[in-house]
Amino acid sequence: MLVFETKKELQKKLMALWSEDNLGLVPTMGALHEGHASLIRKALDENTHVIVSIFVNPTQFNNTEDLEKYPQTLSADVALIKSISDDILIFTPTINEVYGKLVTHNVYDFQGLDKVMEGRFRDNHFNGVGTIVELLLTLIKPTRAYFGEKDFQQLRIIQKLTKLRNIPVKIIGCPIVREPHGLAMSSRNERLNMELRQKAGFIYETLIAAKDKFGTENALQIKKWAIKRFKRHKDLDLEYIEIVDIETLVPAEQKTKNKKYRAFIAVYAGGVRLIDNIALN
Ligand code: AMP
Repeated sequence: MLVFETKKELQKKLMALWSEDNLGLVPTMGALHEGHASLIRKALDENTHVIVSIFVNPTQFNNTEDLEKYPQTLSADVALIKSISDDILIFTPTINEVYGKLVTHNVYDFQGLDKVMEGRFRDNHFNGVGTIVELLLTLIKPTRAYFGEKDFQQLRIIQKLTKLRNIPVKIIGCPIVREPHGLAMSSRNERLNMELRQKAGFIYETLIAAKDKFGTENALQIKKWAIKRFKRHKDLDLEYIEIVDIETLVPAEQKTKNKKYRAFIAVYAGGVRLIDNIALN
């Protein structure tokens, strides 16, 4: 198990691997769980070498408290990765190593993909995500990079980023891994007590019911129904529910044949922000 803290050390190691042209990258912010593990396993299946980056990227946080409370569990993360395979490379740079003195984000034109949902409620979040992912992709030059559908909007934005910047990498989307009660696994779930963690299964139940309704009801009716449903729930505060076209992420008004849609939800549970989504057709 090799852990690298500097770009220089890492590049030295990668130099020998690049010629094999088969490197999988899994970018994470640590506090690893089964969701991350599923990405790592897929990367191992499809590449001869895998590198996992662990870096809590400050420029993608619009809320200082969220950044300060973000769990950091490096030794447990290394142990989890080791239990999957001893051959994985780990990159854990400091903020200074990544950004130097100027901790700031680039500004991208994601052609509207960043104007809805997470982008609407989290100022500059996707500029921060774009900045760190562009940096990792150009530094590590992976053949494939793995992202979870849990952050589906992020996945679409990274695909756009690689086109905008002509980065030769295959972006692979991976299915959402859930806890037994349906809650999408997330590092932030650690901040919920057991009771709230179970109750938050309500988010996925709502998404499944929305999918059921999608056959017969329009997007507006489903949104109204979901908003009402969350109003009655005393522990979960709905921030948004959206039903969007998966290509453009534009909220759907009328269903169009041959188009694919997904429903997205963001809620606060005891001060912790949770997101989830589901394919509707
Ligand atoms: P994070 O550490 O939260 O930035 O996540 C790192 C990567 O893991 C991102 O591509 C996430 O979408 C993905 N991921 C996080 N949670 C899950 C999950 N429950 N299922 C699948 N992928 C996930």
